[in-house]
Amino acid sequence: MKNVHSKILFFLALSIPGLLISQSNASRLDSLFNHLRTNEAALRIFFSAMPKGGDLHHHYSGSIYAEKYIETAKSANAWINEVTLEINFDSSGTLMDKEWKKFLTLEKEIGEYAFQQILLKHLSSKDYSRSDGITSYDDFFETFNRFGSSKNQISNGSGLLWLKQNAIHQKVSYIETMLETIPCGKLPEVFNHLNDSLLIYQALNDTTKLFNLFNTLKNSLLNKSNKLCLENYLKELEKEHKRLQIDDSLFTLRYQTYVLRTLPPIQVLTQMINSFEAAKEDTLLVGINMVAPEHHPMALRDYRLHMRMFQYCAKTWPNVLVSLHAGELSEGLVSPENLHFHIQEAVDIAGAKRIGHGTALAFEQDVLSLIERMKDKKTIVEINYLSNRFILGSTHENHPLYLYHKAKIPIVICTDDAGVLRTDHNGEFIQIALDFPSLTYTDFKEFAFNSIYHSFIKGVEVRTRLLQKLQRDFTYFEHHFLEQHRNIFGE
Ligand SMILES: [Zn+2]
Repeated sequence: MKNVHSKILFFLALSIPGLLISQSNASRLDSLFNHLRTNEAALRIFFSAMPKGGDLHHHYSGSIYAEKYIETAKSANAWINEVTLEINFDSSGTLMDKEWKKFLTLEKEIGEYAFQQILLKHLSSKDYSRSDGITSYDDFFETFNRFGSSKNQISNGSGLLWLKQNAIHQKVSYIETMLETIPCGKLPEVFNHLNDSLLIYQALNDTTKLFNLFNTLKNSLLNKSNKLCLENYLKELEKEHKRLQIDDSLFTLRYQTYVLRTLPPIQVLTQMINSFEAAKEDTLLVGINMVAPEHHPMALRDYRLHMRMFQYCAKTWPNVLVSLHAGELSEGLVSPENLHFHIQEAVDIAGAKRIGHGTALAFEQDVLSLIERMKDKKTIVEINYLSNRFILGSTHENHPLYLYHKAKIPIVICTDDAGVLRTDHNGEFIQIALDFPSLTYTDFKEFAFNSIYHSFIKGVEVRTRLLQKLQRDFTYFEHHFLEQHRNIFGE
């Protein structure tokens, strides 16, 4: 039998010139990678040259480095509150409270270097120290509130272009960025009393009553003017995407929208319905996510209710794809009963195609059955390893990456919030290679291909083009890296 396979491979190699060469390059690179893998600098050089496919899990505002926010505030000479460091782009000149000063005035008073350092620490986790008495997760999540109106300023094109250049520089050819919540219709306040009804139906696990109420609210929300708002939002998104010429032969970008899991139920449902309705046919808006700290009291209280909302939406808009942050938790961060079901409800109830983080896998109830179901359903796991290390204190000894891999659940390697964490995509690959010595070059190559195979890109043509590009990039990388390495280091 083995002989037959060898013959097929031999004839295949004869009929496809370059295949044999590329296969042998890949296996030579596998052994070179094993030589390099104990040295971080060597790994940096290796992964900086290696094509990485796509980044499927990252947040727009948290991915942009603080320097970009500072540069934007400085060039606009925005207002800065010298006590809170809040930035305000009000151009009418009315912020005359004594705590508010113009950027350039404050910079002059403090000194350019010192002021820059203060702002860098304020707008990222730079130089974070546990001894300051703030937990790493609070330090991390608090940063997003500090961007304030700066986020809108960089939304004006320059942030997206920065993300694009940063991705290309790291040999990333596709990103799926979690951009923002959709700023369209809200339900009138008269509906607010229904928050209690939703919670009661959820407590009773009365799915029929829940879905009936979801349906009533959906019909009320999706009136003519709100539908127009959603259409206009998508038109603007497409216009901006084209104006910036984001997609080209080197790079493709798609968007996810998200709902905030820390809001009252009616508001969460409103954001979710707007998101699904907008994404149902659009080619740029390819998926829905849910963000904000999973361990927030409101997020914990309403977790099962949120999963039911997703279940309802998935039934109503069956073509819309969902990726969910689930199991971004650790022992002690929440009480034990909150560690047992988040991933399984995201997979089984909400129908998430991809799970973001999945760090607390081992704490799930009947975890082996869950892993089997994830395999059956072909669920993907978005690993954000450096983020888990920082926020949750994960280590290679307790992180489930290896379990997912062993169980053959497809993994994609992502950055989460490289700007806040001051990391990059190469760094994710490096740290994983250092911490998981059983992973081979072939595994990392597979992770890169997974990120295109399992992206939410709509349209076969775009996905095929990206896969072909990735294959070409790998052929080039495997040939040239080996050659250059041999020329320089003689191995
Ligand atoms: Zn995330």
